[in-house]
Amino acid sequence: MTEMSDIAIKSPDLAAMGIVTSRPLVLVDVDEVLGLFMQGFADYLSLQGLEFRLERFALFQNIYRPGEAEHLDVSLGKAHFDDFFRHASGEMAVADGARDALHRLSKSANIVILTNAPSHGRLSRARWLGRHRLDYPLILNTGPKGPLAAALARQVTGPVAFVDDMLSNLDSVAEHAPDIARFQTVADPRLRPMAPAKPDIHRRIDHWDALHPAIKAAIS
Ligand SMILES: [Mg+2]
Repeated sequence: MTEMSDIAIKSPDLAAMGIVTSRPLVLVDVDEVLGLFMQGFADYLSLQGLEFRLERFALFQNIYRPGEAEHLDVSLGKAHFDDFFRHASGEMAVADGARDALHRLSKSANIVILTNAPSHGRLSRARWLGRHRLDYPLILNTGPKGPLAAALARQVTGPVAFVDDMLSNLDSVAEHAPDIARFQTVADPRLRPMAPAKPDIHRRIDHWDALHPAIKAAIS
């Protein structure tokens, strides 16, 4: 019989993905870190005759039919979100400086893309990364990222850094793998003032030009 403590989180085998486990590891999010997700989603919604109003740091509560004051039912918003991942997430713009920063970091570290996306979005997401020359190994996650980040960090001997826009993911990593260097970045300038942050606990650097040397220092 299996004890609870023996149940390891199911995590991809980094060595089998071609990753040299003695190198530093940088775990990087996609949406609002490498790509301007909100803008891409808003563009997609406008093609469906809907409006994305940037009123709060949220997705589903910001979708409206034109002229209406009450946001779209959240379940309908989620359906559009699923469709966006299925069909259109390849339309996102890349965050300023992201490609160069990862390219430079990849000379001394392994880059792994760790994204929260539905499994039906894997193909369009992988295509988007490839098209923008961001085709590093891709791992999909659901829910807070701490448990999976910890499981990945246990597979390497070098230092690990984690980059995300969402406080919930940063808090989760701090809880499950406190040795991982954490960086919060928010790619879309319109979201920056709205994004909840704890700069005393997770370093907050919104521009890749400044983020890149900070990550490099943390894993050197
Ligand atoms: Mg994100």
